[in-house]
Amino acid sequence: MKALVFHGPGSKSWEDVPDPVVLKPTDAIVRIETTTICGTDLHILEGDVPAVTDGRILGHEGVGVITEIGDAVTDLAVGDRVIISCVSSCGKCSYCKKGVYSHCLADEGAPGIGWIFGHLIDGTQAEYVRVPFAETSLYRVPDGVTSEEATLISDILPTGHEIGVQYGAVRPGDVVAVIGAGPVGLAAIATAGLYGPSRIVAIDLDANRVEQATRFGATDGIVSSDPDWKERVLALTDGLGVDVAIEAVGVPTTWNMALELVRPAGHVANVGVHGKPVEFPLDRMWIDNITVTTGLVNTDTTPMLIKLLAQHKLVSKEFISHRYPLTDILDAYDTFSRAAETKALKVILNAE
Ligand code: NAD
Ligand code: ZN
Repeated sequence: MKALVFHGPGSKSWEDVPDPVVLKPTDAIVRIETTTICGTDLHILEGDVPAVTDGRILGHEGVGVITEIGDAVTDLAVGDRVIISCVSSCGKCSYCKKGVYSHCLADEGAPGIGWIFGHLIDGTQAEYVRVPFAETSLYRVPDGVTSEEATLISDILPTGHEIGVQYGAVRPGDVVAVIGAGPVGLAAIATAGLYGPSRIVAIDLDANRVEQATRFGATDGIVSSDPDWKERVLALTDGLGVDVAIEAVGVPTTWNMALELVRPAGHVANVGVHGKPVEFPLDRMWIDNITVTTGLVNTDTTPMLIKLLAQHKLVSKEFISHRYPLTDILDAYDTFSRAAETKALKVILNAE
């Protein structure tokens, strides 16, 4: 088969690799129909995620059809259309039993890390993928939901919802700032709306993304190259700052912006994958009663989000800005990595 293979920072190629096979009785093989590219894939290519080594097939999002199952898989069948969760879970370990699938202790990739596709084992930017723990890591696509929309459930919707909105503890009436209006920030904006905030302020360097954010429920947008960006956000609060600042970029500047915007007793929810340490001004934060959270998506709200998607209660098609055949994945990466010029949000790859 063909797959997108990582060859160290800055290097990738669409090349021939062996077809995946069932290695364990709990595995399934999925023929990819639709996959996409995540901001995290860009971080990997920049060398920010050193656990990804030369030869790894990238990608942790996708929808496809099961072509083979191991002997222990009884709830899924060949022919089922399934969403591949970016987090794999055995369903049996102590973390899985608590719903913290992101830290599944099973011996796949590395025990204790649930995000393994395109990281510690081969991923979904390929014609076929081997899915460990198929029964607890795959979700059937509900009727009436397209593969393209279902692909948003693999990662961005649960990530924005769980690590942004739930960890940030968004409550009715809150003013929420989302720094970074890429697909993950937009997913946080879309799912924050489920909790009744009074304002959602989208902040990004990219004016197009700030503008797009209103389609996802942002009430206000600030382009952060504006020297008055901070005053403009504070003017949307009672001057004291936002109740919840969600960081969805992953660089020191935006982390600092989140700390600058949050009001006393507010929450900073960091979603971005950081490649470098950041300043953590505890000397100021303690007396301001700031709660800081961060994490790897747990995917424990995936079934709920699938239900909302099936009922058309979540913004979904609006995420998709470009479509390419899977074989043109290098062009798709180019488009996604130049989002400010190309106006890319989620770039969808469809197998032919
Ligand atoms: P993306 O690269 O498409 O979006 C990032 C956005 O940040 C862009 O719109 C960019 O213009 C903006 N930005 C960059 N510098 C900025 C600055 N100084 N000020 C304001 N905006 C700035 O990425 P994405 O797919 O939306 O992912 C966002 C982040 O979430 C990434 O760091 C990704 O790795 C991370 N992520 C985390 C998890 C998790 O489990 N915690 C899961 C998936 C993705
Ligand atoms: Zn991702």
